[in-house]
Amino acid sequence: IDYTEGEGWHDARLMPYGPLSLDPATSVFHYAQELFEGLKAYRQSSGAIVMFRPYANAARFNTSAARMAMPALPEDAFVESLELLVQTDRDWVPTAEGHSLYLRPFMIATQPALGVNYPSRTYKYMVIASPAASYFSGGVRPVSVWLSTEYTRAAPGGTGFAKCGGNYAAAFVAQRQAVENGCDQVVWLDAHEHRYVEEMGGMNLFFVFGDKLLTPALTGTLLPGITRDSILTIAGQVGLEVEEGRISIEEWQAGCESGELTEVFACGTAAVITPVGSAKGADRAWTVGDGTPGPVTLKLREELMGIQYGTRPDTHDWIHKIC
Ligand code: PMP
Repeated sequence: IDYTEGEGWHDARLMPYGPLSLDPATSVFHYAQELFEGLKAYRQSSGAIVMFRPYANAARFNTSAARMAMPALPEDAFVESLELLVQTDRDWVPTAEGHSLYLRPFMIATQPALGVNYPSRTYKYMVIASPAASYFSGGVRPVSVWLSTEYTRAAPGGTGFAKCGGNYAAAFVAQRQAVENGCDQVVWLDAHEHRYVEEMGGMNLFFVFGDKLLTPALTGTLLPGITRDSILTIAGQVGLEVEEGRISIEEWQAGCESGELTEVFACGTAAVITPVGSAKGADRAWTVGDGTPGPVTLKLREELMGIQYGTRPDTHDWIHKIC
């Protein structure tokens, strides 16, 4: 769908996947005025094809758009664009257990202009659909994380809460550092002291103290994950107490060493819930529990995936049926 200032959204169309032709001066190439979303269509056991909370993605898309000086897309148009794409061919949604159709809505600034003084007057909204295999083949495996004390992902007043490409471009160097240090993923810390946990590269984090769950509060510097929000809601149902607050890397390490902090997990659309088995920084390293997935992590994972795949009741009206 195209957008032109003064005219609004126009020319919605379905096209076969293929290259785009854009002017080399198109502003997105130079100033990264861009944003995206990520969600999945699932084939449930009944045969129905559904999405999980697409209106939450629509709302976050528009929050990101406001921060990036881009136009909002009506929430119904966002959801309808996904429905139309999936309905084109139901067979795009994989049938194998744990597999899904990943949907990537995104928007770019398309006005050719080398000047940086004003935002683009034209935009393009597109959606890509791509079948996705189960994140874990051969069972849930804990990830190891690298604590990034050298780089900062987001500072107050910045774009940390928006899902814009620039946040990810600036993160690659820390992700590479994580891998060079033998870790799977980077964990971002606060911009001022590099002590308080913010989030993982593409997931939010939860800390389990027995039957209490703690997750970093949404302070504007981390992405408000839809999986995070869903876990906060279902945690109460499985008898867990929840707190949105803050935790330092020292408290994380001390909690693991004393045994008070029993499990840590990360959550997001791609992997749903991933246990974190160990943490490492420039001057410290420790394991979480015995390094294997804990019962709270597995229970929440089972509950949430049960709702997504239709084996658990959808008491929160999160499932949006496409066909
Ligand atoms: N944080 C970041 C930086 C992410 O890229 C993602 C993935 N969208 C998340 C958290 C988790 O968000 P969600 O649960 O909506 O997928």
